[in-house]
Amino acid sequence: MRSVRLPDGAAVSAIGQGTWHMGEGERPIPQEVRALRQGIDLGMTLIDTAEMYADGASEQVVGEAIEGRRDQVFVVSKVFPHNASRRAMPRACEASLKRLRIDCIDLYLLHWPGSIPLAETIETFERLRDAGKIARWGVSNFDVDDLAELGDSAVATNQILYNASVRGTEFDLIPWCADRHIPVMAYSPVGQGGALLHDAALAQVAARHGATPAQIALAWTIRLPGIISIPKASDPAHVAENAAAAAIDLTPADLAEIDAAFPPPRRRQRLEML
Ligand code: NAP
Repeated sequence: MRSVRLPDGAAVSAIGQGTWHMGEGERPIPQEVRALRQGIDLGMTLIDTAEMYADGASEQVVGEAIEGRRDQVFVVSKVFPHNASRRAMPRACEASLKRLRIDCIDLYLLHWPGSIPLAETIETFERLRDAGKIARWGVSNFDVDDLAELGDSAVATNQILYNASVRGTEFDLIPWCADRHIPVMAYSPVGQGGALLHDAALAQVAARHGATPAQIALAWTIRLPGIISIPKASDPAHVAENAAAAAIDLTPADLAEIDAAFPPPRRRQRLEML
């Protein structure tokens, strides 16, 4: 598995695992736990969750999956914007730690920009870091103007919607982060398993690599340095495919075909979020 370095030097897997909708009853919990463990075995050791997902039940699924393998995984969770205050965040963090059954969250993100002053949120993140409750912090769904407000603070990532069909951030946000060595975490990298995976251009590139369109979609997201991709998969065949996608090197011809189907942005676009 390829890795990406965070600003503090920690290495994380370039393809990790998402967990949105886990713990909601879509699949039996033991199947979701098995899928995450399979993914860890295959090197997708970064696991992304949030207090929001399934009202905390996704964090519980992650807690069960990583039981006994804490040292192998890098746990990312997210705090609701309304909990990102001096008073509420320490409680929210404790509740996440309890559900995850761990002592420290490796990376704690503000889920999206909210109304609590950013300076208060940053100060609280740093207090939690000093107390050993989190190892580092970052943001999600932040556009360039939101990121600029962070100043010189030690933001470890910006998690954003990014896949071949939603690539407006290539115009300004992704270069802005790259210039400052802030890794970008691509969410919904296989387009939530929808239309992207039935696209003719991705299918054609996939056929040349003996791969699936989902694998090409994933390989495409991590073609740039400093991008981490976090597909969610509960199906064991999907998990295996996703891990193997890290080894696919897209050629200039592949990239040109994908560009023809999904043209890169020519002007600034507002950040899209789910
Ligand atoms: P996604 O990962 O693009 O798509 C997940 C869907 O694609 C699932 O239905 C999954 O099916 C299917 N899938 C996965 N791998 C596949 C493969 N190889 N072939 C065919 N289908 C495949 O979408 P997402 O869950 O929205 O995004 C990924 C993660 O990003 C989330 O789980 C969450 O952790 C994070 N996220 C963050 C935000 C944010 O605001 N920060 C927003 C959205 C998502 P099965 O489950 O049946 O395998």
